[in-house]
Amino acid sequence: CGIVGYIGDNEATELLLTGLEKLEYRGYDSAGIAVMNGKEIRLTKVKGRISLLRDRVGDNNVSGTIGIGHTRWATHGEASEINAHPHQSNTGRFTMVHNGVIENFEELRDNYLPNVELQSETDTEIIVQLLEKMYGETKDVLQAFQKTLIELKGSYAIALIDKHTPDVLYAAKNKSPLLVGLGTDCHLVTSDAMATLNKTKRYVELEDKETVMLTKEAVIIQKLNGEKVDRKPFETELDS
Ligand code: GLU
Repeated sequence: CGIVGYIGDNEATELLLTGLEKLEYRGYDSAGIAVMNGKEIRLTKVKGRISLLRDRVGDNNVSGTIGIGHTRWATHGEASEINAHPHQSNTGRFTMVHNGVIENFEELRDNYLPNVELQSETDTEIIVQLLEKMYGETKDVLQAFQKTLIELKGSYAIALIDKHTPDVLYAAKNKSPLLVGLGTDCHLVTSDAMATLNKTKRYVELEDKETVMLTKEAVIIQKLNGEKVDRKPFETELDS
């Protein structure tokens, strides 16, 4: 339902929680965040309200300057802590949040992941497990991400972090909104500018079937075939 991602100079946790609170008006049944510090990723998920997530994070806090957060409106699999996002690949290397619906997830599961033990009932987990499989072939995260996305039928806004490239936040979209936020000391992704207005009013719109790689310094947009895209930012008139 809602996505926030952060990479910058400050602690990610508070920014993610505040962002998710701003998205509460859209409705959701569960929520979660993942924050990375060096090579450690701390995942916190709850069924229920963001205030509960905030309480849970309190005891489980990890200092880190990159992270992703999600409010879920369940489409595949009941509303539960296990099915809440973020979802992780089985090695724990890749961690992902997703809005939308993957129409061919059963086909992808049966064709590509017959021997993979799945943790949840979601369509989203298929994306992250498939990404890990594709990474085994490409040995390049962005290429593996793009190869994975080419296989998907349906709608997605995705934010992704990788333990082995801790200075990069990856994202992509198709038929679900996703904006890249340009802060003075950070870069952001969000499904709804309301979540990140306290950080910036400058955004770049991602178009369908594009990926973006965000570091603290750079924003690199590509099509799924790797072709680079140049896009000018705009200033939103929304007020926080
Ligand atoms: N289809 C995904 C799920 O059920 C994402 C739902 C959403 O957009 O919140 O977990």
